[in-house]
Amino acid sequence: MSGAVLSGRELERYDRQLRVPEIGLDGQGRLKRSKVLVAGVGGLGGVASMYLAAAGVGFVRLVEDGVLELSNLNRQLPYSEQDLGSLKVQAAAKRLRSLNSDIVVEPVPERITSGNVVELVRGVDVVVDGMDNFETRFLLNDACVELGVPFIHGAVHGFEGRLMTVIPGVGPCLRCLMPELPKVVETIPVVGPVPGVIGSLQALETLKILTGAGKTSAGRLLVFNGLDMDFVAIPVNRSPKCPACGKKM
Ligand SMILES: [Zn+2]
Repeated sequence: MSGAVLSGRELERYDRQLRVPEIGLDGQGRLKRSKVLVAGVGGLGGVASMYLAAAGVGFVRLVEDGVLELSNLNRQLPYSEQDLGSLKVQAAAKRLRSLNSDIVVEPVPERITSGNVVELVRGVDVVVDGMDNFETRFLLNDACVELGVPFIHGAVHGFEGRLMTVIPGVGPCLRCLMPELPKVVETIPVVGPVPGVIGSLQALETLKILTGAGKTSAGRLLVFNGLDMDFVAIPVNRSPKCPACGKKM
């Protein structure tokens, strides 16, 4: 498929990535026609959504019901002190639009529930997991498996970050990896650059899926240990007993 026609301004804006052979004009056209849902715009989703907007993903839906607090600012890069007390999703949408006015940003100031998750996921090409709890991640995972939408799982704790890409029907899903809900941590300790690393990698995985470049981290849980400065990729298999994707094997 040939790429969408790019304006002179777009050719200039995306010049450095157009020079990457795996992207080029064709890939840039694909990005322009793509829709991505970023679920949660905190440390992970904030960074991921900025890179997706900067790269020219044509439609970015942001879902988040939180209000910006001072303790968010050690890691949540779209925001400034002026945004304190504002709905994060509105402040993030404003930041993304100021970064790239050639794309459409849709802020959805809602909590993700079993009642709205399918409607939020339907029609998008990729979902980025920017959540801080596994209950909502499971809802997103299950909706993605149901609708066949790739899901880029990311999580952080202290100096450690994790990423796994779920390609429904191809690789394992989040519930193959983790059949039970892990114990709830009320306030997760986070060193700011760690969600920066994982959020950037989630954006990179998304751009690769949208353009067809390279191979993803499907079937591999990537664990980043910031203390030892080490990445380990742990193979994960699909589980026939998986409550989400087992029946589709
Ligand atoms: Zn599964």
